[in-house]
Amino acid sequence: MPGSDSLRSIRPYDGTLLWQGAAASEAEVAAAVARARAAQPGWFSAGLEARLAVVRAFKAAVEAEADSFARLIAEETGKPLWEAKTEVGSVAAKVEISVQAHAERTGSREAPFKADPAGATQALRHKPHGVLAVLGPYNFPAHLPNGHIVPALIAGNALLFKPSELTPAVGAFMAGLWAKAGLPQGVLELVQGAGHTGRALAAAETDGLLFTGSAPTGAALARQFAETPHRMLALEMGGNNPLVVWDLDEAHLEAAALIVAQSAFLSAGQRCTCARRLIVQDGAHDKLLDAVLALADGLLIDQPFADPQPFMGCVVSNQAADGLLARAGAIHGKTIRPLLRLREGLPFLTPGIVDVTGLSVPDEELFGPFLQLVRVSSFDEAIAAANATRFGLSAALLGGDRALYERFWMGSRAGVVNWNRPTNGAASNAPFGGVGLSGNHRPSAYYAADYCAWPVASVEADVPFIARPPGAAAPKTIGVR
Ligand code: NAD
Repeated sequence: MPGSDSLRSIRPYDGTLLWQGAAASEAEVAAAVARARAAQPGWFSAGLEARLAVVRAFKAAVEAEADSFARLIAEETGKPLWEAKTEVGSVAAKVEISVQAHAERTGSREAPFKADPAGATQALRHKPHGVLAVLGPYNFPAHLPNGHIVPALIAGNALLFKPSELTPAVGAFMAGLWAKAGLPQGVLELVQGAGHTGRALAAAETDGLLFTGSAPTGAALARQFAETPHRMLALEMGGNNPLVVWDLDEAHLEAAALIVAQSAFLSAGQRCTCARRLIVQDGAHDKLLDAVLALADGLLIDQPFADPQPFMGCVVSNQAADGLLARAGAIHGKTIRPLLRLREGLPFLTPGIVDVTGLSVPDEELFGPFLQLVRVSSFDEAIAAANATRFGLSAALLGGDRALYERFWMGSRAGVVNWNRPTNGAASNAPFGGVGLSGNHRPSAYYAADYCAWPVASVEADVPFIARPPGAAAPKTIGVR
């Protein structure tokens, strides 16, 4: 029988057991940190080329196992197989993007030190922090922790990787691919567990922590880290993202409806960049709303391997579904489409849409297929409504011309600002992060290189020399007084 600190991973779409194992105790966390600490100097001193060879071997291992990897992601999260395949593609693609980002953002350079008459050199090089913990979320259980792991390993860090307690099997699979790629023992320590283990990792003797997850957990980590400001903390958190529709040309109705549906309901709304609030010009976009409703009503919702493939699967657990139903039910707006459980005892939810115009609604992330409609009468009001959140991850404008978009871009307080594209479309070779409760100004993706290493500035010369400063005349004699 599993004990109290055992972990069980359940296939959310049919309730069957996928994986079980033990959560790491505090002593096991400390032992894993010690192993990583011992392995890190060798990993760094092996040199960049040796590290890149292992990282590229990891990419090859991902590609070789792509089918089983995608199937496992789909099984453990409930996302459609097609989407799990795109996640595996992102894991592989991350390698070359990170190699390039490392060279561009944290590479080294040398130049003559101009102030030095004897020909010294000034150099900029980067060093890894040392031992870092990586805490992953469940919604992209491979791609998002991988977005920290690959750049951190390239930089020469050793890692403690704790997958979400909802996706331990994907975490274990990915750690296995690193072992197959020849990563030396101790350089990536897999630590399984839930919040308790995460807290133990945050308290352990590491040099920093790279986190992707919810804002409440990120805030708890920031409190824990307040006592150790010398340790690096990178927080990638959630959003309460706005999608504004303004001056939309009816010729683009179909594409616009698809953009709304994809922004709000892709991955069953379990993307940090999903649109949670649709802000429209009052009275101007009823045809678009009709088109969105027609689309939402026809979205295929099914288990990951169904044929035809669904647009979206279930949410990650019955507990998550219960929480969403309760929180959406507490918003007393005008229901346009109710958020409903599709199958008794399983976490399949239908897309919910509620008009909350004029209501005061909690500024919280509802991490599921639920969209709140807000009608406003001017574009300034639309921008103000878009920014009426403590979060600041993504925002998009649908419609308008470039001048209107520039107003939107200037006014938006978000790390991803899109025009006539979904809120959840982000380029993999761009930085990715948010402001407010969405992040702590340590953007990930292309800029992950920045938080995986620290710069060391040097002035270097073969022999000692310094120009004599005023008031430091050469002594006439050196020796005994
Ligand atoms: P979560 O905050 O519940 O968990 C994330 C990780 O933190 C897990 O590994 C979990 O075990 C661990 N954890 C939980 N409590 C902890 C504690 N007190 N101390 C230390 N660790 C703890 O997040 P989730 O539900 O797995 O993921 C969904 C959330 O992640 C959403 O809010 C979503 O918006 C966000 N997210 C953000 C991004 C981004 O890049 N900004 C990307 C994906 C998801």
